[in-house]
Amino acid sequence: MGRKFFVGGNWKCNGTAEEVKKIVSMLNGGQVPSQDVVEVVVSPPFVFLPLVKAELRSDFHVAAQNCWVKKGGAYTGEISAEMLVNLDIPWVILGHSERRLILGESNEFVGDKVAYALAQGLKVIACVGETLEQREAGTTMEVVAAQTKAIADRVSDWSNVVIAYEPVWAIGTGKVATPAQAQEVHCELRKWLQANVSADVAATTRIIYGGSVNGGNCKELGGQPDVDGFLVGGASLKPEFIDIIKAAEVKKA
Ligand code: PEP
Repeated sequence: MGRKFFVGGNWKCNGTAEEVKKIVSMLNGGQVPSQDVVEVVVSPPFVFLPLVKAELRSDFHVAAQNCWVKKGGAYTGEISAEMLVNLDIPWVILGHSERRLILGESNEFVGDKVAYALAQGLKVIACVGETLEQREAGTTMEVVAAQTKAIADRVSDWSNVVIAYEPVWAIGTGKVATPAQAQEVHCELRKWLQANVSADVAATTRIIYGGSVNGGNCKELGGQPDVDGFLVGGASLKPEFIDIIKAAEVKKA
C-alpha cells in the first residue's frame, strides 16, 4: 500500500551544542536501510535546528517540536510555521502529549496548528493518545478519535500528515504498549479514517507508534500490520536509535 516506514526521533528539551554534535555524528556513522525503505526525521530543540540541519547526513531530515498556530507577529516566545519554512525545516511535531497535558493544548488548538502548518507547506507529525485513566475507563478509542477528528475537521489533504499514536502512559515510562495493544489502536484509527475521511487516506496515511520504543522491542512492534514506524523519545538520543531505524526491514519479510 506504499506506506514507507517512518522513524522519528524526538529529542525533547535535551542537549547542549556539544551533546547534539555527538548525536549527529553517531547518526551520520550509522548503517541503515535506504531511503526507499525508511524515512528518518529527527527533532532537536528549536535552537539546535540550524546546527543539526547543517551537519546531519542528507538522507535524514529534521523536524521542529512545535510551531505557532497562525502567522507570526506579536507572540513573544513563539516560533512560526513561516520561520521553519524560511529555514528549510520540512517537518514539525504537533500535539505532543507533553504539550497537550502540561500546557493545556486542546484538540481544537492542535487541529488549528496542524491545518496552519500544512497550509504553509510543512509536513506534520500529529500526536494523539490516551492517558492511563482514559485507557482504564475504556475510552481509548473515543479519546483518540476525538483528537483525530479535530484534525480531520480542518484538513483536507492528508498526504503530508503522519499520525503518531502515543499512549501517554507509555511515554518516558519504560512501560511500552504490547504489540497487540498498539496494533489494536492503529487498526481502529485506520478504520476511523476510512469511515470519516476516505478509504484512500486510511490506506496511505502512516500511523506510527510512540512510547518507550527501544532497540529491544522495535522489531516486534514494527512487525504489526498497522504499525508504520515509530516516534522515539529517550532512545533517539542513543546509539540504539540506529537499531530502531533498522526495524524497517521487518516490513520486507
Ligand atoms: C515521545 O516523547 O514522543 C516518546 C515516545 O518518548 P519515549 O520514547 O521516551 O517514551
